[in-house]
Amino acid sequence: MTESLGTTGLILNEPLLWEKGKKGRSGFSLPRCDVESFPLAQELTGEGPDFPDLSEVDVVRHYTRLSQWNFGVDTGMYPLGSCTMKYNPKTNEKQAGLPGLAGAHPLLPAGLSQGILRMMFELELYLTEITGMDATTLQPAAGAHGELAGMLLIHGFHKRNGMQRSKIIVPDTAHGTNPASVALCGYRPIPVESNEQGILSVEAIHDVMDNDTAGIMITNPNTLGLFEENIQKIAEVVHNKGGMVYCDGANMNAVMGVVKMGTIGVDVMHLNLHKTFSTPHGGGGPGSGPVCVKKHLEPFLPVPRVVEENGKYVLSEDYPESIGKLQAFQGNVGVMIKAYSYIRSMGPENLKKASQLAVLNANYMKEKLKGTLHLAYDRPCMHECVFSDKHQIDDHITTLDMAKRLMDYGFHPPTVYFPLVVDGAIMVEPTETESKEDLDQYIEAFKAIVNEARDDPDLLHGAPKKCKVKRLDETLAARKPCLAG
Ligand SMILES: *Cc1c(COP(=O)(O)O)cnc(C)c1O
Repeated sequence: MTESLGTTGLILNEPLLWEKGKKGRSGFSLPRCDVESFPLAQELTGEGPDFPDLSEVDVVRHYTRLSQWNFGVDTGMYPLGSCTMKYNPKTNEKQAGLPGLAGAHPLLPAGLSQGILRMMFELELYLTEITGMDATTLQPAAGAHGELAGMLLIHGFHKRNGMQRSKIIVPDTAHGTNPASVALCGYRPIPVESNEQGILSVEAIHDVMDNDTAGIMITNPNTLGLFEENIQKIAEVVHNKGGMVYCDGANMNAVMGVVKMGTIGVDVMHLNLHKTFSTPHGGGGPGSGPVCVKKHLEPFLPVPRVVEENGKYVLSEDYPESIGKLQAFQGNVGVMIKAYSYIRSMGPENLKKASQLAVLNANYMKEKLKGTLHLAYDRPCMHECVFSDKHQIDDHITTLDMAKRLMDYGFHPPTVYFPLVVDGAIMVEPTETESKEDLDQYIEAFKAIVNEARDDPDLLHGAPKKCKVKRLDETLAARKPCLAG
């Protein structure tokens, strides 16, 4: 194997700033005071916060060292399935940082915010076009927030038609946020199993769809990385009983410019701008989860909406059936600017090509690794593929052991133990931004690890060996978090 990326390197220890501080140190010097000093009022001289005294170099080294403990899409391959951790072109970040955009105050009147409003108006049009739907809102702050918005839209639709319903169908491959959004909106999630091919069958939906079911939430491509081939027929079954079809579009990276969701029966869907449209995520935000709808759901979209009136852009509240406002101001505008810049700089042909390359890379990974790892569904995949630890069970090696060992080879592990329908799942989403050389290195690393699993299982049980932090007690960390360090 070529030399692995993983290294112990020079990664320095770093204590908390509180432990580093020494009374009297300072990061700046003020000019000599040329006025008489004056004692502060009594109430201002009490105990202040206990901040450490630090010099400039203390602070710079502290944060530089901490930054080097990190791993992100700018460091290396990060094939975390379902998360689309692709490299994001720096130009998009640069546009979002332009002073006129970054410094625009959300309380400025529309007359002084024409640029931002135009950007939002046009981004809505682009996303509407990319998804093949009829209208878009940019308000939701993340995918799960978009799901909740979608559920509220469906609820608004049924309410207007005077037929309240109580259930939503959610397949067993769904992201955990789907049943949560359903429940948060007051609906009961009705689980359905996917078939032996890893997708939904029309019959399974036929069996559970009734007049008390408000609709279905269907992730397409689904979390096994497979296209829901029966979606049109499923939509027919749901529509015939008066239900709505919600598509979780977090996996749009596989189908941009390829599938028009609006023409295959989808009534409402969300997108994750922070996955597909050039905002890095993984550190917790900010995100953006626009919701795209067909005409019949448009009256319910959140307000205010950006509309064009005589060549001017204004915020309109004039939508009496709207579900209302979803959050303060208009959403995470910085994320929208990055998506706008990404879409404009790519153009329709390159967006399509990005999806095609994402699918090609995942299929390459699947074919190259399927003799090494157990492949859960041996059929062409979309943007990600799901393996498992089935072949390693006899060596007493688990998915977790292999994921930890990958870090020693210098790679971020894939998503593990999700989706739940595959025991010991290893879900790899290479994305379109990785070169063949990088994919080959990842494949080689996995092959080496599987050999180690057979020849030296103890090595894997003790992995990672080279990382700064070894195996954490994740349960303890969740139950008793030590936030002070
Ligand atoms: C990421 C993801 C979500 C949730 O998106 P957030 O922005 O994290 O709320 C929902 N569904 C699928 C399939 C996803 O991959």
